[in-house]
Amino acid sequence: MPELPEVECYRTLAEARALGRPIESVHAPDGWYLKRGTDARRLEAALVGQEFLAGRRRGKLLMLDVGAAPGEPDLVLGLRFGMTGRLVVDGSAGVDRLLYSTSSEDVRYDRFGVQFGDGGTLVVRDPRRLGGVELDPDLDRLGPDALSVTLAELRHALADRVAVKARLMDQSRLAGVGNLIADEILWRAGVAPERLAADLPAASVRRLHQHLVSGLADLIERGGSHTGDLQPHRRAGGRCPRDGAGLAHATVGGRSTWWCPKHQR
Ligand SMILES: [Zn+2]
Repeated sequence: MPELPEVECYRTLAEARALGRPIESVHAPDGWYLKRGTDARRLEAALVGQEFLAGRRRGKLLMLDVGAAPGEPDLVLGLRFGMTGRLVVDGSAGVDRLLYSTSSEDVRYDRFGVQFGDGGTLVVRDPRRLGGVELDPDLDRLGPDALSVTLAELRHALADRVAVKARLMDQSRLAGVGNLIADEILWRAGVAPERLAADLPAASVRRLHQHLVSGLADLIERGGSHTGDLQPHRRAGGRCPRDGAGLAHATVGGRSTWWCPKHQR
């Protein structure tokens, strides 16, 4: 599913292929997919005749600056990808294969798109329809981006007596970490997912911060959130690829969680 690394790939795709192309028309056939008061008419009024000026990202939210002149965006188009959404520009996707997603190229799943004056398109294709599109997305509800979070910001995000994994996945505290990435980062950092966040020693928070930033960069480089070292072992009978201990499994923060009871403390 699209987590931070996938959305970063979509951002790269949008930056490389979608900027500076005048928008000729808007395709928004699914009213349910338009969020927070955004509707097809508003989208058309906001986008037609304009260009995408830049692609930015906060967590799993992709933001395309929209305007007529570089450096002066008039508004921001926010795209969320839910469980199965992909960004497709001129027919090619930013990520070839998504875990849990159908590989379908069926245009029935096109929830939103624009056509450029040159005939090309930018489309959000989302079989399960859990993503969404909105104008000027509200960033107040999103914590700092997990790829660029500072140690102080992470410390602040973890200042509660709640399972550390639950806090890492709370998008209002830290934006971009989903279930697979949380397990991978905690495994890399040697921190048990059920540890209370506020009780973590300073050294563990530092280690978590280091592995969060480097681990995310690693997963972006490898091409997605499902490419982690722990990922193939997250199953019954799975063993820790670092020390061979049998992995533990429980529901933490409402999500299926795998960890190594030997080196994660
Ligand atoms: Zn281990």
